[in-house]
Amino acid sequence: MKVPLLDLVGQYKSIQSEIQAAIAPVMESQMLILGATVEKFEAAMAELTGVKHSIAMSSGSDAILIAAMGLGLGREDDVIVPSFTFFATAGCIARLGIRPVFADIDPKTYCLSPDAVTALIARDYVVKKDGAPPVNRKTGRALRGIMPVHLYGQCADMDAFLKIGEIYGIPIIEDAAQAIDAHYQGRPAGSMGTISCFSFYPTKNLGAFGDAGHVVTPDPKLGDLIRKLRVHGGHQRYYHDIVGINGRMDAIQAAVLSVKIRHLKGWIRARQERAARYAALFAKHGLTGTVTLPFTAPDRDHTWHQYVIRAPRRDALRDHLKAAEVGSEVYYPLPLHMQSCFADLGCREGDLPESEKAAKEVLALPIYPELSEEQQGWVVAKIAEFYGKR
Ligand SMILES: *Cc1c(COP(=O)(O)O)cnc(C)c1O
Repeated sequence: MKVPLLDLVGQYKSIQSEIQAAIAPVMESQMLILGATVEKFEAAMAELTGVKHSIAMSSGSDAILIAAMGLGLGREDDVIVPSFTFFATAGCIARLGIRPVFADIDPKTYCLSPDAVTALIARDYVVKKDGAPPVNRKTGRALRGIMPVHLYGQCADMDAFLKIGEIYGIPIIEDAAQAIDAHYQGRPAGSMGTISCFSFYPTKNLGAFGDAGHVVTPDPKLGDLIRKLRVHGGHQRYYHDIVGINGRMDAIQAAVLSVKIRHLKGWIRARQERAARYAALFAKHGLTGTVTLPFTAPDRDHTWHQYVIRAPRRDALRDHLKAAEVGSEVYYPLPLHMQSCFADLGCREGDLPESEKAAKEVLALPIYPELSEEQQGWVVAKIAEFYGKR
């Protein structure tokens, strides 16, 4: 039996006629960038997140870039980010000269740890009494933001981060790229921070037919600035108040996303059912003392963008699964503080033990609404076989 890591074709087949009906008028009209189709999707995102200012973007990466630009962050500034995340979290802010300052993760949720952030600030920053942001003892740079990532489809501990943000007077940027419609104490991902970023990369839980992303913010001034930055820094064409970027969403992507967003809650439910089935299967095969199953914090709901286990002899297990035609993936094999492009930040192996440990142990298994019970049984049976269980 074949169990691919993903089945985007299966998803498309299930909504093919709806998608074709939605993109046909865009092609007829040749209104291909922004416009009414994109505005309609922006309204749908505002409704889903409960956040008023909703701005469709060209990608999740551009959403992060423009969020940092909108907050006025740049060359003098530090932003705390997790190291155990997709590259864009740190890469997009580094482009502005911002220094990504890496902090460790909570080993249970894999999300940025508020305790690690608090300890990092206490160790490396001088806290100002006049309301100014903390200043790095060595570099003199100001700490101007924290960007928790809602990894694998579960929110980071947002109340703790919001509290830290309040204490030091710095914005919290949510990287919600993997967690659309996940909830933290009933609040949707992206609704808690100063500004929040989403990705509609095709493999994400809400995926476009190419690159697309989104920004939401409750702050009207910031929302207006983001809209301006998205079109080269001017609301009136050929007149530029500031220097922006081309961060616009295509109308075809908005048409596709407007169809798919109607199915999102159902798809998330299907993912949740499959996650529960994995848990039952791992228990049935007596594997729960061997592999570590994903942990969902009691005040959050998990949307299962990824179903990630910790596995002893991970790479050998992966080879075993590959031979059985079972797809799997390692998100992420090398933490960002150890990437060569960030070597000049002075981080070393050993600096972030939980991130480094996770990178050696995690394995993502197939999870998507189209995944059948039979396929899941096969995946877990093959894992049981590898560990000598039955
Ligand atoms: C996918 C992703 C991004 C970037 O989104 P793109 O749309 O691929 O540019 C950023 N952060 C995280 C955590 C992601 O998973």
